[in-house]
Amino acid sequence: MSVKSIFNSEITKAGIVHDWTLINDPNLCIHNPKEFYKQKTVARFQCSSCRKSWQTDMCLICFSVTLNKRSGQGTVLMRIFRQECSKCSSSTLEDPVISAENMSRFIGNLVNYIQRKFYNKSNEGNELKPHVYYHSDGPHDRQHCEACKHGLCSETDGGQEQDNTGTQWCILA
Ligand SMILES: [Zn+2]
Ligand SMILES: [Zn+2]
Repeated sequence: MSVKSIFNSEITKAGIVHDWTLINDPNLCIHNPKEFYKQKTVARFQCSSCRKSWQTDMCLICFSVTLNKRSGQGTVLMRIFRQECSKCSSSTLEDPVISAENMSRFIGNLVNYIQRKFYNKSNEGNELKPHVYYHSDGPHDRQHCEACKHGLCSETDGGQEQDNTGTQWCILA
């Protein structure tokens, strides 16, 4: 299931009357972070040159959420922040892979937020944390995190990362 179809079904499930569209916007400009709704999720990354892979619970997602009440059209712009390989010197920012379970969780939280902000629902207690698939080991690698480069990644929650290179890593450790 794509993130957009999860979003559409959560909007329908919530009984929201307006039309809402989710748009992936990799260039979403974060001038004033306070205007954005932010979440962190668990994600896996893989380097496109050396194939090293790693997981983090510090994968930042920013949403810009607006509703045009006259046209009845709601819009969510979403930017998922990338990370780069810590081994390669000229590494590129890689897109995360997020499990279907965690996509459902952060989209569910987003729809809760939309209901709070535009439809006067009080549902603060319903937020779901991402499911963590690994045992934590080591701090967040701020040097290779796109959100950290933008100064957006300062929350204290999360912050554990683990190399996922398999047996090789286990032998070295
Ligand atoms: Zn690499
Ligand atoms: Zn970061």
